[in-house]
Amino acid sequence: MSEQAATGLLIIGSSQAGVQLAASLRALGYDDQITLLGDENHRPYQRPALSKEFLQDVITKESPIFRTQEYWDEHNITVVKNERIVRIDKDPDGSGVAHARSGMQFPFRRLALTVGARARHLQLPGIDLPGVLYLRNADDALELKARVPAVRNVVVIGGGFIGLEAAASLRKLGKDVTLVEAGQRLIGRAVGPETSQFLYNHHTAAGIRILLDATVQSIVASGDAVGAVTVNGEQIPADLVLIGVGVLPNTELAQNLGLACDNGIVVDAHALCSDGVTVAVGDCANLPNPVPGAPAGDRVRFESVNNAIEQAKVAAYAITGNPEEYAGIPWFWSNQGELKLQIAGLSTGYDQTVIRIDDDPKLSVLYYREGRIIAADCINVPLDFMAVKAALAKGGAIPADLAADPAVPLKKITVTADSAESS
Ligand code: NAP
Repeated sequence: MSEQAATGLLIIGSSQAGVQLAASLRALGYDDQITLLGDENHRPYQRPALSKEFLQDVITKESPIFRTQEYWDEHNITVVKNERIVRIDKDPDGSGVAHARSGMQFPFRRLALTVGARARHLQLPGIDLPGVLYLRNADDALELKARVPAVRNVVVIGGGFIGLEAAASLRKLGKDVTLVEAGQRLIGRAVGPETSQFLYNHHTAAGIRILLDATVQSIVASGDAVGAVTVNGEQIPADLVLIGVGVLPNTELAQNLGLACDNGIVVDAHALCSDGVTVAVGDCANLPNPVPGAPAGDRVRFESVNNAIEQAKVAAYAITGNPEEYAGIPWFWSNQGELKLQIAGLSTGYDQTVIRIDDDPKLSVLYYREGRIIAADCINVPLDFMAVKAALAKGGAIPADLAADPAVPLKKITVTADSAESS
């Protein structure tokens, strides 16, 4: 067995959260050695482009790469590719050794888990046929992109972020696309019914066939490849099947370490795990709901770039001994063809909506709970998104009756403690 030189911090997982953690630590003056380790055979890269610009061939393979080698060298961050950690021995003080499948060992004084989430797999007859793909990482995207030119009919399973972004990209590339969603509406977990309906209308008008409340029964072979998908008894021709039915947090290493896990690795407001020393950040972490006014004890697991960045900063503060609480407002974005969906806040528990603009290709839906704005879904209306995000961050009010007039900029009617004092 070979052993790497002793390291200060070992960050397992070199995606958005891991990269941000390493960068934030250096920005805060952390001077111990950092190893940023990932199991993919690629330099750390950004995922959002995989279902959009990369698939549409409007950017190069290099553009999603996070940082140059000079950056890693200059900041004394050792980037390790293609090593999968399968077991960790850890002492109560937080130090230990991580064992890779290859036999390599990575000793550490402190550990960070930024291990992300993996695509949820479906069990269906025909699921192992060539041409049935998931889209979570760069290898998935490379395979999808390589197959696309020879393909005419595509069936996308799942009407969430991945499914809609990829379906819009594939449609743009001239493919015949059918999207199959098990639920009653699109992106049902993240947006309200009006937004789902708007997306349905828009994508249908763009030529994507969308089946809601639909059950995929099997994938049917044609020779040794996929030929069709059976949905509610109908056989839909398919040369390629793309599946995006959600993700599962990678908690196995944390569980083996005896860390508390419950829909992700349980962390406190400082990204500290139940042992009080290991940190966990990003899609894998279950954290106290950071939204001001959230019900006491409420916990969330975010699957977003914004959370990976904000929570990594919190973890960097904890590691450097200056704990700061997570102060950001959750936000999300999704580019789907010509639509730019931006979501500010969390709409869970809303009791009132205000539709400000509903004019294809623009929509703005504001969500209120007990008279207070809590979130907005905005499509191609960046000013509304920015105004709601700013109001949420400052604890500001956007009166629902005034917000209903689309001619009035939301920024103008936002009431914050500052604006109330100065008026
Ligand atoms: P997702 O957003 O959770 O959507 C999965 C969708 O698949 C849901 O609508 C779900 O419906 C549906 N579904 C589940 N089982 C199904 C089945 N057997 N047949 C048909 N539909 C089924 O997850 P995702 O699209 O796979 O994306 C994966 C992850 O990447 C998520 O964490 C997502 O947030 C992230 N991501 C984010 C962005 C972005 O922020 N722009 C872009 C891409 C990916 P139900 O809800 O009814 O179960």
